[in-house]
Amino acid sequence: MKIIMLGAPGAGKGTQAKMIAEKYSIPHISTGDIFRANIKEGTDLGKKAKEYMDKGLLVPDELVVDLVVDRLTWDDTKNGYVLDGFPRTIPQAEALTKALAARGEKVDFAINIDIPDENIIERMGGRRACVTCGATYHIVNIPPKKEGVCDKCGSELILRDDDKPETVRKRLDVYHEQTQPLIDYYTKEGVLKDVDGTVDMMDVFGAIVQILGE
Ligand code: ADP
Ligand code: AMP
Repeated sequence: MKIIMLGAPGAGKGTQAKMIAEKYSIPHISTGDIFRANIKEGTDLGKKAKEYMDKGLLVPDELVVDLVVDRLTWDDTKNGYVLDGFPRTIPQAEALTKALAARGEKVDFAINIDIPDENIIERMGGRRACVTCGATYHIVNIPPKKEGVCDKCGSELILRDDDKPETVRKRLDVYHEQTQPLIDYYTKEGVLKDVDGTVDMMDVFGAIVQILGE
């Protein structure tokens, strides 16, 4: 099952992708997580990506596409995967379609988590991410058991640099301009499925399971 997650920053793509990966035993591949890991390790890719991420801009396609296309050849992708944060531009979607077609494959589901911009700023301001394992929480909606501490690994929870309100507004503009057109792209491919992202995370997951099957 090859799934891509669409939706504005903060729509809940990562939250749902982690649950999908667990239920269907497929890897969760997040380009944002890959960049953050590279930033933490101080790699060249991390240094380049950070310049764009801190400004709320997308990392250039040429730094993302080869990385993902290569990741999709790993052994763990044999039964599919859930891609979170990729594709984010039409050229990225075209590159993905082409790379898959070369192997006689295609995306099975593009799950679009629908949420109005008004909800996003509140979501992102409250998001806290684990510095070690990348688990995400929300200080009000999905709080950790102990404030500031990850339930899963006990490390510190932080507000991401790009979740500050001015950067979030920029990221939303970039989303509407460059990523939203993918909704049409995947509608034409016949694989787009919309879910309401404003409800409780377990209800969003319920709607996704209805689409993907038990
Ligand atoms: P994305 O990966 O799309 O950027 P996240 O999955 O990180 O978004 O979710 C953004 C924030 O909203 C996080 O703090 C997360 O805990 C919270 N969140 C996710 N889903 C819901 C939901 N259905 N209701 C309320 N808050 C949510
Ligand atoms: P995310 O964790 O998905 O919200 O991604 C965080 C940031 O990483 C984005 O705001 C972009 O700067 C960058 N990024 C992640 N995925 C991509 C992608 N597919 N194309 C371009 N930039 C990306």
